[in-house]
Amino acid sequence: MGRAFKVVVLGGGTAAGYAASEFVKLGIHHGDLCIISEESVAPYERPALSKGYLLIEGAAWLPAFHTCVGTGEERHMTKWYKDNGIELVLGTRVKAADVRARTLLTAAGETISYKFLVIATGARVLKLEEFGVTGADAHNVCYLRDVQDAAHLVDQMAACRKVEGKAVVIGGGYIGMECAAALHGNHIPVTMVFPEHHCMARLFTPEIAAFYETYYGKKGVNFIKGNVMASFEQDEFGKVTTVVLKDGRKIAVDLVVVGIGIHPNVDLFEGQLAMEKGGIRVDGKMRSVSNHSVYAVGDVAAFPLKMYGDVRRLEHVDHARKSAAHAVQAIMSSNKVGDYDYLPYFYSRVFTLSWQFYGENVGECILFGDHSASKFGAFWVHKGQLVGAFLEGGSKAEYAALARAARQRPTVDDTRLLAMEGMGFAMAL
Ligand code: FAD
Ligand code: NDP
Repeated sequence: MGRAFKVVVLGGGTAAGYAASEFVKLGIHHGDLCIISEESVAPYERPALSKGYLLIEGAAWLPAFHTCVGTGEERHMTKWYKDNGIELVLGTRVKAADVRARTLLTAAGETISYKFLVIATGARVLKLEEFGVTGADAHNVCYLRDVQDAAHLVDQMAACRKVEGKAVVIGGGYIGMECAAALHGNHIPVTMVFPEHHCMARLFTPEIAAFYETYYGKKGVNFIKGNVMASFEQDEFGKVTTVVLKDGRKIAVDLVVVGIGIHPNVDLFEGQLAMEKGGIRVDGKMRSVSNHSVYAVGDVAAFPLKMYGDVRRLEHVDHARKSAAHAVQAIMSSNKVGDYDYLPYFYSRVFTLSWQFYGENVGECILFGDHSASKFGAFWVHKGQLVGAFLEGGSKAEYAALARAARQRPTVDDTRLLAMEGMGFAMAL
């Protein structure tokens, strides 16, 4: 015998936190909602882990960044869940799911049944072992996905500082860029190694990347591009001491931080639910297309991106928050909500820099602004329409204008004029 709930949210990350908030706003009854999380703390704002949490001075620790502080709302600690009649089952991994029987089996052996399931299991990091690298389980090789990883990284940075050591960051994506900035802030010299010819290759053009690489370079961050690590050398205590690159070069190291992407946590549902793009295929209500008592939100959801008429899976916090709220509105209204109509939005903050991007980066990229003043941007123009917009160092009003532009997709007759008008074009819309 186990417990039964009207709704079970599987996963206790960002999306789960925002789902709980929306359920409470919409008046879910006490005792109807259960959240099961492998983590031992209540849902929190994951983006804080690569930013405030890693600061050498004035770091943000839990409980400061429990959801929903990321959107300026009340901070929900364990007591909030209790006060709202939500069963928060922490430190508990679900090891099996049966969507036909509507049951979940926890690692502790409990069966929990539901009427509706919201899958919010996020993702796990890709490990170097998966690429055949041995020694990547050494204590001075760090990954960053949850608060435990972040605490470990903080400890390792302190140990590295003590020996005046150096760090290598593997990967030139979000984790790589944000952690390299954090390491520098912790007075640790950094070398970044990644396979592409420039950082943030999936979003940035070479010109945009050049600005950030020059900025990092002036801070002393060293880039090794178009190369991958091949192996580690370790000392007699198992500590990684050398990163060996594919071209044979060797880098002496005291700390390695790895950010080479993620794998969505969907394994429990393989063979039970329709999958696409590595995620659970949902409809515009965030409801599984193959089982209508199951919803999927956040990093695991492959959803119809209405504006572009295709299916996407996004790994960013704004979508985690909004898709969670949308699924909850669908559940609470018996699906009498419109379809999720999302405008892709990504951002990052590193050093004193801060950028935002809206829309999609396809077509011709038109740069505007002034790199030297750290105030520049880019528009992407596809088939005569502005479809994507990026800005470094913008104001609130300017970012709002970018979002409007990416949503409206205005016609662009003259790309040279667009480059000259820059933000003026978006502000005038
Ligand atoms: P998660 O937040 O990953 O939550 C998944 C939860 O499910 C976890 O609690 C996990 O333990 C639990 N879980 C998984 N499997 C099981 C199981 N079998 N049983 C029980 N529990 C389980 N995005 C941005 O847009 N901007 C940023 O600045 C930004 N910064 C980031 C910084 C870091 C360090 C990281 C790791 C990510 C960052 N992201 C950022 C991405 C963003 O945090 C994610 O897109 C978001 O957290 C996804 O939310 P989610 O709820 O889908 O998954
Ligand atoms: P990303 O996908 O952003 O970047 C991974 C990087 O690692 C890419 O440059 C990738 O290259 C490279 N890479 C892949 N395999 C290897 C390898 N074997 N050796 C060396 N480099 C390799 O993932 P991250 O790990 O940076 O981020 C993890 C998750 O966290 C993502 O979902 C991300 O969206 C999220 N996140 C978001 C943030 C934000 O939005 N501000 C901040 C921090 C994390 P290639 O492209 O060629 O595969």
